[in-house]
Parts: sequence; C-alpha cells; structure tokens
Amino acid sequence: MQRRNFLKKSGLTTVGLLSAPVLTSCKTEDRKEVSTIVQASLKPIVIATWNVPNSTAKAWQVLEKGGNALDAVEAGVKMEEADVNNQSVGKGGRPDRDGNVTLDACIMDSKGNCGAVVYMQNITHAVSVARKVMEDTPHVMLAGKGAEQFAYEKGFPKENLLTEKSKTEWLEWKKEAKYAPVINIENHDTIGMLAIDENGDISGACTTSGMAYKMAGRVGDSPVIGSGLFVDNEIGGATATGQGEEIVKTVGSFLVVELIRQGRSPQEACKEAVNRIIKNDPNYKDIQVGYIAINKNGETGGYCIHPGFSYRVYSEKGHDNIESNSYLS
Ligand code: ASP
Repeated sequence: MQRRNFLKKSGLTTVGLLSAPVLTSCKTEDRKEVSTIVQASLKPIVIATWNVPNSTAKAWQVLEKGGNALDAVEAGVKMEEADVNNQSVGKGGRPDRDGNVTLDACIMDSKGNCGAVVYMQNITHAVSVARKVMEDTPHVMLAGKGAEQFAYEKGFPKENLLTEKSKTEWLEWKKEAKYAPVINIENHDTIGMLAIDENGDISGACTTSGMAYKMAGRVGDSPVIGSGLFVDNEIGGATATGQGEEIVKTVGSFLVVELIRQGRSPQEACKEAVNRIIKNDPNYKDIQVGYIAINKNGETGGYCIHPGFSYRVYSEKGHDNIESNSYLS
C-alpha cells in the first residue's frame, strides 16, 4: 500500500489547480439575472487513469513544447504499453484464458476522428495502430488478425507480448481457472488519457490488455468509442477503467461528456455515470469502475465505485496523483 503515500484526496485539490474563477453576471431571455462562473482555462494539461507518472510526464513533454494533444496522448500511453512491469497494458499484459495476450486500444482527436483496434495480438503499441486506423483507413475499428496484418503493413514489428512473469502467473491461475474479476489488482490498469494542448484542443487515448484471463475473443469497453473514451472538443473528454461490460452497458464516457455539456462539472459527471452503473447492477460491490474527465476549461474530476483508484494530472500547476472519490468507503 506504499502508493497511498503519494495519494492526495481529490475534489477540491483539483479545483485548486485552476486559476482564480471570474464571477460575471448575464441576463437570460426572460430577463432573470443569473450569476455564472467563467473559469479561466488551464492549458495545456494532461490527465490519466491510475498513478502513471512516466506516462503523464511524457505527454507533458509534448504539450509544453507546443505539441498537439493527439501526439501527447499517444506518446503518453505508449510508455505504459512498453513497460513490461505494467501487466494490464501492452507488452507484459496478462493473457486470456488460453494464454494469448490480446490488446484493445482507441484514440480520438479534436475533430471527432477516431480509430481503434480490438483483440490484436503480437504488437506492443496498440494505440499507434489505432491512430493509423484513424488516419490511414476509411474505417474506425479493426479486429484480430485484420488489425495485426494492418499493423505489419504499417511497419510495426511482431513481438511476443507474453512475459515470463505473466506466463507463470497464468499457469498458476490455470490450476483452478476460477474466473472472478479482482478489484484494483494493482496500482494501474487500463490507461486512459485526455489532454488539452496550448491551442485548447482536446484529444484522448485508451489502451489495455483487458481483463486478466478473459474468455478468448472478449473485448471490453476500452477500444469502444463512447464507452472507454469520448472526446468532444467543444465540451471535454472522458475515459474509463474497470469492468468493461458495465461501462459499455451505460455508454459511460459519452454519458460523462454529455453530462458536462448539460452543465455538470467533470467530477459531478463522473459521479453520475458511476451511479448509473450502481443503479443497474445489483452486484456492483463486486466490481470496480473508475471514470476521469476534463472540461474545456481544464477542470478535471474522477469518480469510482471502490476506493483505491487514482489519477494523474500534469499542468503548469504541478504533477499530482489524486485519489478519486468513491461511492463506497
Ligand atoms: N476496462 C478494461 C476492460 O474491461 C479493463 C480494466 O480497466 O480493468 O477490458
């Protein structure tokens, strides 16, 4: 539980990152006077699920040089894909029941373009293949062998993604082969990242090896635009981690962005999206879901079911790991 030493309570901390709000007043059509907080925007900024300082630092490097948000999120999540110690993303990810590491990833830019790969094997940088799908094909999503073949055509090297550590653990799991999702299995999981660049444009990326020991062929929320990730450059962005099935059923990330559109703060929007899952799923205590979100002003927020989920924020105000508020205590 060493990671807890680095954690900070969320909510006000995040708001505290922002420049001082400016109070203005305006008139509605029926001439009723209302007060509105016009928040001075904080940019550039990057936010990512889990405590992944190397990823957020990499994205920040791109942003502080004036790079765009799309390059920043791709470079950021690639750090985790390449890190064999992260057993939930990219190379070194835990395999499915049959011992195959299969990756899901997606990316979305400020113009609403997106690309995704699902159930792809033998390629470390799933997010970069997703970006190629977005930029070099008329499609949004490629799956399995087709995605892998496309990656080779684009020059990605074939690699064995199953490390000795993940293989040993899988062989151990096979002795009982009891499938039950484990909450907060480690201090990172699916990496979802959102960034606003100095032009104020928003992009996002999401990458995962999915649930450990999942059924062969299973795809979760992470590569599904609207579920694991959604960006609307006028409003903000959201991304998810945790039990993908529940996130897909509620179209979670799209829901969060739409709630922000309706006037909720990123924090409130994430909370409402988690509440929808809790309302629909009587077994919610057995699962974890966490959302993070950012609005156009660079305000951030996160919310999850169980305590233990945190997210990283990097802006000119600092580089912090923030413990997400949770439904359960
Ligand atoms: N959301 C991922 C999935 O369902 C897994 C995770 O974040 O734990 O595939």
